[in-house]
Amino acid sequence: MKKDEYIGILTSGGDASGMNAAIRAVTRTAIFNGFKVKGIYRGYEGLIAGESRELTTEDVSSIIQRGGTILQTARSEAFTTPEGRREAYDTMRKEKIGALVVIGGDGSLTGARIFAEEYPVTCIGLPGTIDNDLYGTDFTIGYDTALNTIVECVDKIRDTATSHDRIFFVEVMGRDAGFLAQNSAIASGAEAAIIPEDRTDADQLETFIGRGFRKTKNSSIVIVTESPGNKNGGAMHYADRVKREYPGYDVRVSILGHLQRGGAPSANDRILASRLGEAAIQALMEDQHNIMVGIHNNEIVYVPFDQAIKNDKPIDKNLIRVLNELSI
Ligand code: ATP
Repeated sequence: MKKDEYIGILTSGGDASGMNAAIRAVTRTAIFNGFKVKGIYRGYEGLIAGESRELTTEDVSSIIQRGGTILQTARSEAFTTPEGRREAYDTMRKEKIGALVVIGGDGSLTGARIFAEEYPVTCIGLPGTIDNDLYGTDFTIGYDTALNTIVECVDKIRDTATSHDRIFFVEVMGRDAGFLAQNSAIASGAEAAIIPEDRTDADQLETFIGRGFRKTKNSSIVIVTESPGNKNGGAMHYADRVKREYPGYDVRVSILGHLQRGGAPSANDRILASRLGEAAIQALMEDQHNIMVGIHNNEIVYVPFDQAIKNDKPIDKNLIRVLNELSI
């Protein structure tokens, strides 16, 4: 990496709390080590259009505590085409951007991988997604904050559920991954979680009903991963089924939606983003390229893009047992 070139940084895909802390860490570590940084706006859209400007240490002051991303984010149809990526490469050369730090999820890192295969650009990825679904890293930036938000919401829903003797199906994000649902269920004392990784998800509901939860409890909360991942559908689907099959139960649905994404990042997300952002620049200085920087057993790890994207990150099956045992 030449010091007369810029390190470009962008955020892409869905926003996640802690992205700003990562932008700050990348910018400050780069400047500390004698590099110049350009912030690229609106993800790959801005990379193509040349929407970027130099970032100073002051530009990233007072952002560590803010949710969302000061660079904004976008989903770019153009970048999925060879023509779009050619334009992005031309713009990078014109703007003297020699390396790219991409903060985003699965899709964003797939884009970075393809781009780096086609053109001589160095790409370093940082896992930024609330879904926690990137293989090779124990945690992604934004996951912990979203998890805490869900738990806070479920605590409130629990008050209503117990006051009215109701079953609540609470739908949370996660796409194809059940980390948010499974762990928020444990943390909020929910009675069950219905997650995509448990391939017998139809039976998950039967098991829950069959356990005779009404003998010991007058209310229940079931956390369900949103429907893109759950092939049988989200919370609405399960609520309709229970209403049909058990007309005596008072069933309600709560879809938490976008409130799960925003808000001030948790301390854990701020620390994770700071460590990963710092490590991204260390990786560039070590001449690493086309890797995602992640964390495993509390150590920084470099994960080739291919591995991070292609492999399904497994959920710890012990968590399913823990929830089952503790929700009797
Ligand atoms: P989140 O997990 O929060 O949804 P994400 O990074 O997975 O984040 P996507 O919408 O899947 O979000 O991807 C973000 C952007 O990455 C896309 O809009 C597109 O510009 C780029 N991208 C995704 N897949 C590809 C691909 N196969 N080739 C090139 N670019 C891609």
